[in-house]
Amino acid sequence: MMGPVNATSSSDQGPGAGRRVLVVEDELPLATLVGGYLERDGFDVTLANDGLAAVQVARSERPDVVVLDLGLPTLDGVEVCRQIRTFSDCFVIMLTARNDEVDTLIGLSVGADDYMTKPFSPRELVARVNVLLRRARAGALTTGDAEEPPRRFGDLVIDPAAREVSVSGVPIVLTRTEFDVLAALSARPRLAFTRRQLIDAVWGEGWVGDEHLVDVHIGHLRTKLGDDAAAPRFIRTVRGVGYRIGDGAAPSQAGR
Ligand code: CA
Repeated sequence: MMGPVNATSSSDQGPGAGRRVLVVEDELPLATLVGGYLERDGFDVTLANDGLAAVQVARSERPDVVVLDLGLPTLDGVEVCRQIRTFSDCFVIMLTARNDEVDTLIGLSVGADDYMTKPFSPRELVARVNVLLRRARAGALTTGDAEEPPRRFGDLVIDPAAREVSVSGVPIVLTRTEFDVLAALSARPRLAFTRRQLIDAVWGEGWVGDEHLVDVHIGHLRTKLGDDAAAPRFIRTVRGVGYRIGDGAAPSQAGR
């Protein structure tokens, strides 16, 4: 663990004011560079340079966002993310050294909210962090509407006011991003969303990156909801378009 980038800096200005970011990266120059950019936007930044320290700091500091390198000493980023997910639903942006690593991560239910491939622009990383936090604020506003009743799709119940999801009465623990994707789909049950439409709805229109990210979260959601990707009841694939919420019944041949 390396501690704060600059203990004397505390800015009340900037979009990051009052927000904590944990940067987990074993390359010190990159960690310091990223930390410096975040501090300029007003974030409280803590650095950790190995996996075990990262989990400890995440537990004690309760960051709003964790920027998490995949390749780390002691525990790799996948394991760090899994452990953090046992006690926190903070946003996680994972840094990978190669583009194809993102594909590998898709196969694992890691629970990261966003991915960036090195080399990346620190400015873009800060922009991504701000986009995630704006989502959190927007979500807080929409979920403030306690009047909205739960949405039911067969055995699947989505309660937007409480941000809770259950299948056959069993609560399902989702990450914020997974919940937001499901909330977006279920808000407009007749609409087949393109990946871009889902990104605009969940990540915001300013988000720039690989739309493949949507498939990552859909895959995780289906696993958690017990949905069979070959015959999904809850999240349908609309060929050539994207995704649509299902009615909870097994799909007909034509409806797949
Ligand atoms: Ca590394």
